[in-house]
Amino acid sequence: MSVRAVLFDAGNTLLFLDYGRLAAGVTPVAGMRLTAAGLAAAAGPAAREVEGGAASERERAARYLDALFRLAGVARERLRDVAAALRRLHHERHLWSGVAPRTVEALRRLRAAGLRLGVVSNSDGGVEEALTAAGLRSSFDVVVDSASAGVEKPDPRIFRVALAALGVAPAEALYIGDIYDVDVAGARAAGLRAALVGPSGSHAPDDVTVAPSVAELIELLVRRGELSLDPVGTRDSSR
Ligand SMILES: [Mg+2]
Repeated sequence: MSVRAVLFDAGNTLLFLDYGRLAAGVTPVAGMRLTAAGLAAAAGPAAREVEGGAASERERAARYLDALFRLAGVARERLRDVAAALRRLHHERHLWSGVAPRTVEALRRLRAAGLRLGVVSNSDGGVEEALTAAGLRSSFDVVVDSASAGVEKPDPRIFRVALAALGVAPAEALYIGDIYDVDVAGARAAGLRAALVGPSGSHAPDDVTVAPSVAELIELLVRRGELSLDPVGTRDSSR
């Protein structure tokens, strides 16, 4: 059965921290000069450190930022001031409003092929706002935020909320995320196919297709025949 809908995780898949802005905004209170490259290098290890656990999404988001700046070299006693600086920056513009190169073009290609697109995110109720701030909201037919859905990944029910809104069966949907245990495991439990964006997925088992960015992953899936960008309706139905 061919793919009719592609659903995406938000954080570290579609949306990224704007590392340059964070480095500039936080350096005055960090006790060291932060760089965009230094923060980007700490992103994967920080994500792995806060993966799982029973914390709420808001607590996890705060722990992620703590881990990110600590792993980038900031002393623990500075982290409270770092958090305050981040709150000020977030108030000016959503912290997670960075978009990887060619993401917009990749989403446009999927839509041009007639695919339905959605977002399924473990978030604090703010994912719509973050997508809007990043200029991506209009690319999606449905956005499901765990805070509104009352259930979060890897629980398969959150994927079904999005599929029901789109009128698409699980076997006709592909989910793209960045954390194997949450995104791939959850999507598969709901009956979807799944693929991973690195680098935080780079330690994933080899039963899943992985690429460094959404744009590269879409290209790889198309090359491998796991995704067709022929317009819906013109496809070979045996696929
Ligand atoms: Mg993510």
